[in-house]
Amino acid sequence: MDRESIEVDVLFVGAGPASLAGALHLSNLIVRSGLKPAPTIAVIEKGREIHSHAISGAVLDPIALRELIPDFIEKGVPLENTVTEDHFVFLTRNWKFEPPAMPPPLRNYGYYIISLSKFVKWLAELVEKNGVDLFPGFPGAELLYEGDRVVGVRTRDQGIDKNGNRKPNYQPGIDIKAKVTLLGEGPRGTLTNQLIQKYHLNEGKDPDVYSLGIKEIWELPKGSLKGGRVIHTMGFPLQNETFGGGFIYNMANDLLDIGFVVGLDYKDPYLDPHNEFQRFKTHPFIQSLLKGGKMVEYGAKTIPEGGYYSVPKLYTKGCLLIGDSASLLNPMRLKGIHMGIKSGMLAAEAVYEALSKNDYSEKSLSQYEQLVQESWIHEELYRVRNFHQGFRYGLWGGFFNAGLMMITRGRGLWERPTAQPGHLEMKRLKDYYDSKIPEDREMVFDDELTFSKVRDVFSSETMHEENQPSHLRIADFDICNNRCTVEYGNPCRHFCPANVYEMVENEDGSGKHLQINASNCIHCKTCDIMDPYGIITWVPPEGGGGPGYKKL
Ligand code: SF4
Repeated sequence: MDRESIEVDVLFVGAGPASLAGALHLSNLIVRSGLKPAPTIAVIEKGREIHSHAISGAVLDPIALRELIPDFIEKGVPLENTVTEDHFVFLTRNWKFEPPAMPPPLRNYGYYIISLSKFVKWLAELVEKNGVDLFPGFPGAELLYEGDRVVGVRTRDQGIDKNGNRKPNYQPGIDIKAKVTLLGEGPRGTLTNQLIQKYHLNEGKDPDVYSLGIKEIWELPKGSLKGGRVIHTMGFPLQNETFGGGFIYNMANDLLDIGFVVGLDYKDPYLDPHNEFQRFKTHPFIQSLLKGGKMVEYGAKTIPEGGYYSVPKLYTKGCLLIGDSASLLNPMRLKGIHMGIKSGMLAAEAVYEALSKNDYSEKSLSQYEQLVQESWIHEELYRVRNFHQGFRYGLWGGFFNAGLMMITRGRGLWERPTAQPGHLEMKRLKDYYDSKIPEDREMVFDDELTFSKVRDVFSSETMHEENQPSHLRIADFDICNNRCTVEYGNPCRHFCPANVYEMVENEDGSGKHLQINASNCIHCKTCDIMDPYGIITWVPPEGGGGPGYKKL
């Protein structure tokens, strides 16, 4: 079957805030300048709808949105609330303590609480009105090259069965050729990884470190939420050695956004971020906030937290990295949407120059990195450059370093501490527990306050075509079934927040083997990051597969 090929001038991969802001800004620049012939712009997205995979905290710092759309209020931006109350709370098992002063980086007063999926939907409508073509349900499977230059993206084939055979509905992926391709796939993007490895874009940079953010939306009794309250927590249920904490934001229409972040550089192989989140909700203070409510939506996603020293080279021949794909996120403020929007805009300005001069050389596209370095993105990242690294020394070590950073312009305890990928921090069972390895017991959920992964996944509206090759590629099952069982106790069962990985009894009773429930996957990418042997690779499933976020 012939493979279809289409040509556009500019292709954005992934319809997050970075790509959509970039597409909007570029189309505005083209219209304002009257550039002829008007370049064609397209955005492809793996979710079944343009906003289906959009998830974030989220409290939006509107600095970049104001630059992109100065009249965003008049244009109907979907805001849940303006922040009117800011709290930072330490939790012990039964108590809470709120310091009298809020750490400045955590101040959100006057910012906006948003649902990223609603925000993306709104932005996509503006982009489409500007004549940009949006293609939901089209995952980028591989980059296309001419010589050593990126010339577009091949989308994933549809209609292949689980054994790799073509089904009657087989459709080969489309080759979308472009003068410039911009990767805004979010954290740990498949094409981004290919690009970084091929062009060594992370040479001289630190490995990225990630966290996993898990959240639920709760519907509370009518009238029980007042104002734009924002609460961040640290402490219970995490131990001092693990980075993370909770967030609770008042949304509109009696909805409460509650979530939990765990650094993916934890040490305990039995740690289960989803279950820690469920425990978090059992704290008396948190329980009181959820009283009378019911959970209505669930989702999870990784967060690139490596910061300044982890940002890769942002350009290569024919291709640019934007947003979370470029690790442009402030780890101290736990905010990346504003940087995603700004990086998309700066990339659009560099691409506009390239289109105007018909010059797509690496030198021409390098202007993007120059613009980033001259912008507030650089300044903001530099000021928090050693934030996450301090938490290697536990919660209090991290706080001490963070405090010092504020008076040393981001230096903290070291100018540039050594960094290693987070999964290498996980210890083997015998090293972590010594001779007292505990029984790996299942958590019990009450289905009212706490929910199993399966129940939560149901609320994420996740769907995949069942009869397709697994999109979780395991390089060596023997390691999973034998070595990992002994050394780490199969931590994939714990770090995956969607019950994708299960150890099930062999039919002949000879032990257990790894079973992959791929259709549960909510595309958070944790397994690709946290597997201690680095043998799990996440690749995009058939287009349209994955969660169906609406309010997250
Ligand atoms: Fe996340 Fe991997 Fe589990 Fe999918 S399989 S939900 S990407 S950890």
